[in-house]
Amino acid sequence: MKKQYDVVVVGAGNGGLAAGGITAKNGLSTLVLERHNIPGGSATSFRRGRFEFETSLHELAEIGPNPFEGTVRQLFDELGASDIDWCFEENAFRVVLPGEDGFDAVLPTGQEAFIREMERQVPGCEESVRAVFQLGQHAMEALEYLGQGNPDMEVLASKYADFMRMAAYSTKEVLDALEMPKKAQDILVTYWCYLGAPADQLDFLYYVLMLILYVELRPAMPSMRSHEMSLALEKAILEHGGEVWYNSEVEKILVRDGKAYGVVVDGREIHADHIICNSHMSNALSSMIDSKEIPEGMLKLANARDLALSFVTVYLGMNRSCEELGIRDYSNFIIPCADSREQYERCCSIEDSKYAIMNCLNTVIPDSSPEGTCTLFFTTMYYGDVWKDVKPEEYKKLKIKIAGEVIGNCEKALGIDLKPYIEEVVIAAPPTFARYLKTPRGTPYGYQFDMWDSMMMRTMNVAAEEPIKGLRFCGACGERGDGYSSAYISGMNTGLRTVQDAKEGN
Ligand SMILES: Cc1cc2nc3c(=O)[nH]c(=O)nc-3n(C[C@H](O)[C@H](O)[C@H](O)COP(=O)(O)OP(=O)(O)OC[C@H]3O[C@@H](n4cnc5c(N)ncnc54)[C@H](O)[C@@H]3O)c2cc1C
Repeated sequence: MKKQYDVVVVGAGNGGLAAGGITAKNGLSTLVLERHNIPGGSATSFRRGRFEFETSLHELAEIGPNPFEGTVRQLFDELGASDIDWCFEENAFRVVLPGEDGFDAVLPTGQEAFIREMERQVPGCEESVRAVFQLGQHAMEALEYLGQGNPDMEVLASKYADFMRMAAYSTKEVLDALEMPKKAQDILVTYWCYLGAPADQLDFLYYVLMLILYVELRPAMPSMRSHEMSLALEKAILEHGGEVWYNSEVEKILVRDGKAYGVVVDGREIHADHIICNSHMSNALSSMIDSKEIPEGMLKLANARDLALSFVTVYLGMNRSCEELGIRDYSNFIIPCADSREQYERCCSIEDSKYAIMNCLNTVIPDSSPEGTCTLFFTTMYYGDVWKDVKPEEYKKLKIKIAGEVIGNCEKALGIDLKPYIEEVVIAAPPTFARYLKTPRGTPYGYQFDMWDSMMMRTMNVAAEEPIKGLRFCGACGERGDGYSSAYISGMNTGLRTVQDAKEGN
């Protein structure tokens, strides 16, 4: 058994698997260490009774049906992990605000169809919605230019001026400036929860890129749940000569004189020139790295950030098909109020009725459960430390109460009956995610985005995020924040920076 590697990756979540795949493929001896007995972190599945449930994936943004390849599909192809059966949604989302002043809008994919439906829902909004997509297109072109390397600041400032401005304004500020009617804004920002910050706290650039990618490339999912992607990446690492060890929790990241040189696992030291950490950055800073070796600026930055949201998720196995239950759409966003700031604030307490998403996989993959059945996946969000005062004896009752409310709200909003047809039920809460993912407060989203700490700011400051030589972070704590695509891409970028360092002998 080797004790010296070029690269050790701590954690086999989406970020760690992508990073390990890239370093192994580029000829670096790579060891991935994972505390569980399976790869994927959030990206996996589990069985109850006759159902196999997707654990976390609602939808992936950057796959794209052939021949329109998104970045994530390109990454999988490049690693030789392309043997995945991708399925695509027809619609972007359905959003329902119950009540007299409410709305029920199903937004299709495809820019023109999306804009037409927005105009039908909110007459007079077409011009502003079209302008949003034009800005998104402009941002994609600017990013392509940046991706070519060595950008000329004058070209950026002249040809891509709007792009440079976008990162400095919130989604709400831009939509207001485009004079988009409020109702159209409320519908358009439905996806805000995927990035974890409401429209007035979320930079427009990141939101518009996500929106355009979902609408243009269509939301995707693998036919065998996200576990299929995790297994494909694990296989790619092994085929490129890397190693993946399971049941191997890293206790320490070894740092001496400002340089990381290894890890401790099962009480043994394993040395490496480069460490890529897919465990939450707060874990590394609070317990894995000797505090004397942590630069002050790194601690200050981490402390200035808020931990991102966590979820309560409810997985239902139903003894009726989706047609029998009257469910047509895959992604159903049920919102308790129109404004994303108010929706966010409701998620800062346990009691308030919240934003919930109901997904039905069978609407996209009909045979994803036995004939005559379907699975449903409900998600609702929590911010801050609101679960800390829940007493152990109250925990189970509280989870059941929340699940009952979430299901009841969806039944009411969609006008369907679900409770009589439940065959299996599983409820996961922030403590479940904390235990499984080993993230503080159970967040799967890293640190929360803010206007001072947006995707663009993080990307431009990558070097400042890596002040310990030989140590990098990837996944939800990486520069692109939460989400499958972001974690994969941050893993890929971290892997590529590591390969470059190794080539230059750093
Ligand atoms: C319910 C839910 C729904 C979601 N829905 C979506 C969605 O629809 N679309 C989307 O894009 N994103 C979604 N996400 C978010 C997405 O899953 C995450 O942001 C992303 O997967 C995070 O990836 P990561 O690389 O940070 O790794 P994680 O998933 O956090 O995995 C980290 C891995 O590291 C391991 N680890 C930690 N510490 C150690 C250690 N010391 N030693 C060894 N191993 C260690 C853990 O066991 C874990 O396997 C959802 C998440 C959840 C939970």
